[in-house]
Formats: sequence, C-alpha cells, structure tokens
Amino acid sequence: MISALVSCEGIVLRNLRHGETSRIATLLTPELGKIGVMAKGARDPKSPFGASLEFLSHGSFVVYHHPGRDLHFLRSGALEREFRGLFRDSDRFILGSAFAEFLERVLQGEEPACELFDFALQGLQVLETAPRPALPELFRGMQLRVASILGYAPRLEQCLRCGCAVGEAESAAARGAWTFLPSDGGVLCPECGAREPVDAGPRLSFRALRRLRAMALGRSNGATPGHAAAVVRERPSAPDPAWIALLDGLVEDFLRYHLDSYRGLRALGALSGGGSGASG
Ligand SMILES: [Zn+2]
Repeated sequence: MISALVSCEGIVLRNLRHGETSRIATLLTPELGKIGVMAKGARDPKSPFGASLEFLSHGSFVVYHHPGRDLHFLRSGALEREFRGLFRDSDRFILGSAFAEFLERVLQGEEPACELFDFALQGLQVLETAPRPALPELFRGMQLRVASILGYAPRLEQCLRCGCAVGEAESAAARGAWTFLPSDGGVLCPECGAREPVDAGPRLSFRALRRLRAMALGRSNGATPGHAAAVVRERPSAPDPAWIALLDGLVEDFLRYHLDSYRGLRALGALSGGGSGASG
C-alpha cells in the first residue's frame, strides 16, 4: 500500500535517540492509535520538530503513514503543550512516566483511540496539578478507567452472584465487607462473599467499595480524570496507607488478569514510598 500523509495530534509516550541526529518516538494519536515514528534530524539544533518530540509532550504532527509498517516517517511536528509540572516534581514525573508506560503496554497496534487520547491528555494534566497526597489514588483510578475504555471495566455495580445492587445496599448486612474477585473483575456482597474461601480476594468495606466505584467510573459514565480529582477532593487529607496498599494490590491483580500485555510498571518502582505510595 502507498503511504499517505496524515495530520494528527499525538502524545509522546516514549522517545529514543537514533543515530547521530534522529529520534524514534512512540505516539498516542486519536486517529491511528499507537504508532512508531522516525524523525530524521530531530536532534539537530535547527530541528524542524522543535520540542514536539520531548517525552510526554502533546504535539501536532504530519506523518507519512505506511499501513502495515511498524515505523513511519515524520514530516513535521509542532508543540501544542508540554506538562512542565510533571518535570518539576520527582513523584509527578514518575507517575507521568508510569502512565505513559502503561498506555504503551496495553495498547495493541494501530487502531483509532480518540477516547483514550482525550483521557490521556486530561490524565497528564491531573497528574501535573492534583494535590500531591492524592496522586497514588488518582493514578490507580486512571488505570481502571483506561481498562474500562478498552472494554475491561470492573463490575462494581452489583454482586456477581446474587445481583444485589451496591447502590441500593441499605441493610446493615450489605454494608459489611464486600469481596473483590480480580479474576472475575467484580465484587461479592457480604453474604455471598462469606461462602467463598478466605483468600478469594481482598475484602473491602462498603465505604471503600463506593470509593473504588467512584474512582473507576469509565468515560461512558461521563467521568473524566477531572472527575477522579473531584472524588479525591471530597477527602483532601492524605489517604490512609492501608487503603492505598489495598488499592495497589487490587488494581495490579485486576489488570494482570484482564490485560494480557500488562506485567506491572517499571517506572513505579522508583516512587519514594515504593508501590504507588507517593509520599505526601
Ligand atoms: Zn450476593
């Protein structure tokens, strides 16, 4: 097939030096999804690409797109926006890097990714600006939302066995501990959970479950990373470390079960608190 000139926006998920003066970058674009591009002369002082290929930048690009190839030549690039706040704070930078690594890992090949692109732009802005103590929780919420956009939403509306709705769980019994089953991607009410082995999955208080549900709402529910930030603002103090540890384990298990290409994130290992436990 003949290559076509495609104009698109993109977020730089990764970039590598290539040869003396060039760069190879991975972009997340709305129209083409994840693509690899080669930018000749990108490291020249007079590069026509300016800062558009810097890591985590948002740019406008013109690509010689050649269907079926892994790498496409970039004709031009112009910076739209850089997330400077991510580069001024080590924990924000690590989470921004981990978010880019996550997107790169879980996106398969080239297919339109408009919703994900919009979400990623907003997500980077949230990581850049949200209160620092809220970052670990926001990051996990964003991972669940990406999974939702990809069609793997956790099922947190009702019990997987008896179907009782979380939102209508008024009885004292229903407000006990719910069980999250990573492999099924959903929850069991206290009554049904009691019939499962104790190690079936992590137990969540009713409040924690409601919080998890609010964090994990997908875009189809009209929720955005800004919505996640609003959830966190309702409880602005530093989240309980036990809750963050529970959330870390639960999200990791869920993603490993449902996204084949997910194997955890290297970037997270560098966080000051270990895990996703960015210190406040
Ligand atoms: Zn049940």
